[in-house]
Amino acid sequence: MKIDIVTLFPEICRAPLGESIMKRAQEKGIIELHIHNLRDWTTDKHHVVDDAPFGGGQGMVMKPEPIFAAVEDLRDMTQKTSNAQHPTPNIQQSKIENRKSKIILMSPAGRRFDQQIARQLSQESHLIIVCGHYEGVDHRVIEHLVDLEVSIGDYVLTNGAIAAVVVVDAIVRLLPGALGHEQSAVDDSFNRGLLEAPQYTRPAEFRGWKVPQVLLSGNHAETDKWRKEQAIERTRENRPDLL
Ligand code: SAM
Repeated sequence: MKIDIVTLFPEICRAPLGESIMKRAQEKGIIELHIHNLRDWTTDKHHVVDDAPFGGGQGMVMKPEPIFAAVEDLRDMTQKTSNAQHPTPNIQQSKIENRKSKIILMSPAGRRFDQQIARQLSQESHLIIVCGHYEGVDHRVIEHLVDLEVSIGDYVLTNGAIAAVVVVDAIVRLLPGALGHEQSAVDDSFNRGLLEAPQYTRPAEFRGWKVPQVLLSGNHAETDKWRKEQAIERTRENRPDLL
C-alpha cells in the first residue's frame, strides 16, 4: 500500500511513523509512506495556504488551490507509475484514477474512525491523507476532491497531522506481515465486536495478586471460555454500546 500524507507539519508525522512496527512495515516494503509539506504546492513568494473566511468569523481557512494541486499531483504520479507497471488500455483514464487513489480528509466533522473503517481502508492500494489546520479547509475541497472525511473522535485537535498518525497506524497494523503474529490483530478489541479479555504475564503472583488459575491450567477449551466471558463482562462495563 502507498500512503501520502499532506500536512503543514510533516515533523509531527515523521517521528511516530518512523518507529517500531510502522518503521518495520516500511523496511519490509509493506507500505510506501511519503509525508509532504503542503506549502510545496503554493505558487506565491510567501507560501500562503490560508485566508480569511467569507462571511466573516474567527480564524483562517485553508485555501483550496494548494490542496487541489497537491492531491492531483500525488494521484497522477501514482497513476503514471501503476499504469507503467500494469497497462490497462481499454479502461477510461478517469475511472482508473478514481479506483486507485482514496482521498481522505482529517476533520472533526467527518465520519468517526473505528476498526471497521480501518479494515476497509486497509484494502486500498493508495491513500492520500490531507491534514487540516486553522479553522479547517475551504468546503470545495470536501465537495469536489475528498472521498471520505474522517474524525478520530468527538473533540477538536489543533491540526490533522496528529489524527493522520492515528489513522495510518490503525490501518498499517492490519496489513499482512505488519505484526509479528497475525493472530494479534484478530484477537484485538473491536475485531469481534467485543473488547479484548484481560491479559496477564509472569510472575504468576505479584504483590499477592494471583493470575486467574484457568490461565495457568493449560486447558485451552476452558481458557477460551473464560476469555469469552471476560470479554463480554469487560465490554458490558466499559462499552455497553458495543453489545
Ligand atoms: N473549525 C473546525 C471545526 O469546528 O470542525 C475545526 C478545525 S481544527 C482546529 C483544525 C484541523 O485539525 C482540522 O481541519 C482537522 O484536519 C484537524 N482535526 C481536529 N480535530 C480532529 C479530529 N477529531 N479528527 C480528525 N481531525 C481533526
